[in-house]
Formats: sequence, C-alpha cells, structure tokens
Amino acid sequence: MTQLQDIYKGLSIDADVLAFGEKILEECKERFAKIDETAEYNQLKVVKAMQDAKVSEACLLGTTGYGYNDIGRDTLEQVYANLFHAEDALVRPQITCGTHALALALMSNLRPGDELLSPVGKPYDTLEEVIGIRPSRGSLREYGISYRQVDLLDGGEFDWDGIKNAINEKTKMVTIQRSKGYEPRKTLSVERIGELISFIKNIKPEIICMVDNCYGEFVQRIEPTDVGADMVVGSLIKNPGGGLAPIGGYIAGKKECVENAAYRLTSPGLGKEVGASLGVLSSFYEGLFLAPTVTASALKGAIFAANIYERLGYHVVPNATEERFDIIQAITFGNPEGVISFCKGIQAAAPVDSFVTPEPWDMPGYDAPVIMAAGAFVSGSSIELSADGPIKPPYAVYMQGGLTFPHAKYGMLRTLQSMKDDGVIDPAKLKITDF
Ligand SMILES: *Cc1c(COP(=O)(O)O)cnc(C)c1O
Repeated sequence: MTQLQDIYKGLSIDADVLAFGEKILEECKERFAKIDETAEYNQLKVVKAMQDAKVSEACLLGTTGYGYNDIGRDTLEQVYANLFHAEDALVRPQITCGTHALALALMSNLRPGDELLSPVGKPYDTLEEVIGIRPSRGSLREYGISYRQVDLLDGGEFDWDGIKNAINEKTKMVTIQRSKGYEPRKTLSVERIGELISFIKNIKPEIICMVDNCYGEFVQRIEPTDVGADMVVGSLIKNPGGGLAPIGGYIAGKKECVENAAYRLTSPGLGKEVGASLGVLSSFYEGLFLAPTVTASALKGAIFAANIYERLGYHVVPNATEERFDIIQAITFGNPEGVISFCKGIQAAAPVDSFVTPEPWDMPGYDAPVIMAAGAFVSGSSIELSADGPIKPPYAVYMQGGLTFPHAKYGMLRTLQSMKDDGVIDPAKLKITDF
C-alpha cells in the first residue's frame, strides 16, 4: 500500500487519469531538466547575494516602533540590491501588494507636468486606476501627470515608430510590464525588454525605465536591471517571496529612484530610516532563499498543464513547447463548464480549504462573474497553486503557482479528474494507447 497509485487513489485520482498524466510527464522531462538548471543558477545567485551582504543570525530578528537601525531590514535591502545588480532596494512589509509597489514607484518618481509612457500596451488592470486611465481618486492623472500608450503590433512586435513618436519633452518615465498578466499578448523575455530600453534610451537617455517584474522573477537567469532597467518592481506574495513571505513588495534599481520611493512610502525627511520590520524578516529571507526552486516548481506545473490540455485539444497560452518567461498558464475551454470544473479541481487539491467549492461571483471592478480557486497558506498568494477565470467568452482560465512540483502535479491531475467527473471531457480521450 505504499505505491503511488494507492495514495493517488486515496486522493480521488483514478488510474486512467494518473496514467495519462504520467505519460504526459515523460514528454516534459527534458524541459524540466532545463528548468532545474536555471533554478540551480538562480539558487547560487541568491546565496551569493546573501553572503556578499553578510547576512547574520541577528538579521532574522525584527524591530518595533520607528524601526531605527533595523539591521535585518537594511541588510535584506542590500541582498535585493545585490541580487538585481542594482544600486539600492526597498523591500518592506509596509508595501502592501504589487499594485502598491508599482504605484509607489510611479508616484514618487513623477511630478506634475510629467508624462508616463507604456510602450507595451495596456497595463495590468489595477494600474489603470493608479494611472487614471479609469478615473480614480488619488490617481496620477489627478496630480497632473499625463499618460500615453503605444500598443504592440498584431504579431506582438514593438511598434518602434509609434514609440518614437510618442516620446516627447514631457516623457519622464516608461513602464514596461514583463508578464502578459491577463492579456492575450506574449510575455516579454528579459532580452526583448533590453532591446526596448536601449531603443528608448537612444531617443531620450534620461527617461526612467521601470519594469513591472511581477511573475517574472527567477524564470530566467537575468533580470530587467541586467539589461538597463532603472527600476524593477514586484510583489512578495508572488515569486520572490517563495511562498513564505506573508506580505510585502519590493523596488530595486537606481539609488535616486529607490530613495524617491522611500520618501513617498514613509515621509520626506525620513525615507528608508524608519519602518519597523516586526517579525517578518526571517520569512522574507527564507522565502527569497527558496524562491528559485519554488518558481521552478510553478513553471513545471504550468508546462505540465499546457501539455495535458493541449493534448486534449484545448487552446493553451503559452503552448506546450514554447519557451516561458513567466509562470502564468492560460487554457481556453470555450464553455463555462470547463472553467468551473477546472477551478473546482484546483480547489480540491489545496492543502487549505480543499472542502470548499468555488463559485463564480460578481467581483467589484469586473464586467462578468469571476471564479477563483485558491487554498493558500498566505491569503491571495498566487505563487501558491491557484486559478481564476471570468465567466465570459472565450471562457479561459488562468492558472499559476505551486510551491512544490508534486503538489502542482497533483493539482493538475485533480483538474483532469474534476473534468472527467463533471462530464466535461470524454474519458475515452484519456486512453494512453492513442499517444
Ligand atoms: C499581480 C500583478 C500586479 C499587481 O499585484 P497585486 O499584488 O495583485 O496588487 C501587477 N502587475 C502584474 C503583471 C501582476 O501580475
């Protein structure tokens, strides 16, 4: 009774579902080996960043009150600066989420009369309100900061002419979103981001180039700051928190940019000097230490998902074989039943709240009901196995995360089981003799 199929059976996975999954996995082995090599490289990068910053046992403790002379906080910021080959970094539990980190980076480095440019099309949903694309209280727009956007061309290429024409005497900052987020476009590789930054700096060298690095950290061996970005910004409840950070965001880059953000986060005159770390530092350090292999697990889960559902005839982005630059996997089911059944499977595989049945609901800010599946240790953490999808055409689900590959694997098998049980997929399609 110690066989894998027995424990899977006890977790509601039928033999045919497991066999189908195992067959798909065989085809993924080579890809997985490459991901492991990247994880090894990035693990060493993190260790080196910690050693070079002289992380000590005392750094794992925290401060209270004003947080003056918080050695753990200051050293962690040095670790992030080392890791991103940046001059400085701000890594704080007082940065509440990714949107907050991005808003901070934008609002602290732009002044009334400046213009912000997105050369990669529409930014992440929540940034629309930060910028004021959708009217919103406290937006950049309210402070007299204008915004311009140049969409990607149909093939996903940069619109070089459009970008050149959009840059003017007011253009102070450029925001580049690395991940596709929930847009149909492709995620940008760090190399492509580098080409874009060079092009922009050639036209106007003093433009501050900021990269929204969410979901991209540790997927490649280099980061946007290695190819000219002045700032990278992200969330600690995604890749770099390694699943352990319970809150937080980071900004790494040019000293002046990071300091501007610090004066905005705390107060003019105070900057980085205050901000007690309370008790979160050891989870920030340990989470960062685990982040390269956690990101690798999430990537393998996404590739496994793409291969399963492409084999079953669904449209998947990225597809089963293409190179990946973030951890998000989109699967288009073409009907609400597919989206709902998939999310039920993800929820049923969770370590927390596995007995809960997710249902579509009218979330504020969305024009269609959205279904979300997550049974996470950290609420809303999307480096943990999770999925969501709006109940509207083309009925696509977005899945991401998985702190360990065995869990991501079980999660995917559980989605398949759920689709089988709900009659969304024909069990005959799971016959591995057809491979
Ligand atoms: C998640 C995400 C954000 C916003 O982060 P939150 O922590 O959800 O506020 C911004 N940009 C991208 C690309 C993201 O994936």
